[in-house]
Amino acid sequence: MRELSDIDVVGVVGAGTMGNGIAQVAATAGYEVVMRDIETEYVERGLGAVDDSLDRLASKDALDEDPAAIRDRIEGTTDLGAFAAADVVVEAAVEDLEVKKDIFGDLDGVTDGDVVLATNTSTLSITSIASATDRASDVIGLHFMNPVPIMDGVEVVVGERTVDAVVEFAHAFAEDLGKETWEADDKPGFVTNRILMPWINEGVRAYDEGVADREDIDRGMTLGTNVPMGPLELADHIGLDVVLDASETLHAELGDRYKPAYLVKRKVEAGDLGKKTGKGFYEYE
Ligand code: NAD
Repeated sequence: MRELSDIDVVGVVGAGTMGNGIAQVAATAGYEVVMRDIETEYVERGLGAVDDSLDRLASKDALDEDPAAIRDRIEGTTDLGAFAAADVVVEAAVEDLEVKKDIFGDLDGVTDGDVVLATNTSTLSITSIASATDRASDVIGLHFMNPVPIMDGVEVVVGERTVDAVVEFAHAFAEDLGKETWEADDKPGFVTNRILMPWINEGVRAYDEGVADREDIDRGMTLGTNVPMGPLELADHIGLDVVLDASETLHAELGDRYKPAYLVKRKVEAGDLGKKTGKGFYEYE
């Protein structure tokens, strides 16, 4: 299915931070969505996050439709077989190569042979993920930004074997979800995380080494470089486990300048993953 006009049902793997956001924007664009996670509890949490986000957008008059009508287009499930109905699938499960390869092997089995299979990976090789399927030419990176309903950009990442028709489809699909795109080669971290991860880790090291307190590090970078969030606040927002996984991949691929900061590791070991657990570098309600 490489024509937008053929797409009715969007499959989303994972109901976490990114998965529920992708499901929400796809449903808002008018698609039927099947969102799968491994436990009912995670599916319910993801659907709850969509409800909250749609309500917030509705209260700001930012939706063209009743939030309940959008929400009704999303079916939450733990059943992998539900992807048999999907015309395109976007995977947003945990940032672990073996997990993603298993998922893509399974998706290859349950979806039609011409369904585009996209991954939202932050740093992992699209080509390696694609190798778990018998149709690497249909696999591509669609790297949404967090929070998905708010951020305008999607990075299209082209694997070694991705064919041009799939690249064109990926841009058109992301644009249909209301996003603007840019394209990157399948090199570690693509454009965004190759540049962002060392910035975050350096912010954490500056905090750990006492250069300034957390607020001043974040204020220094927001006021000093005109970005909307400083490195510590952004790390909490992304999830420290996601930052650590991404940094470790880049470190292994690109060497020492990508070494994760110790304090990111310690906080992940302590279960302080940022906003999603209520505590990271800051505390949240
Ligand atoms: P998350 O931890 O919030 O959610 C991941 C979800 O995947 C969890 O609910 C987990 O139960 C589920 N999952 C695990 N194995 C699964 C399987 N086999 N099938 C279905 N679901 C499964 O993580 P996230 O922040 O949403 O990140 C998801 C992906 O998006 C990762 O690859 C991450 O690197 C990438 N990403 C994250 C961000 C960010 O800012 N958080 C930004 C861009 C890309």
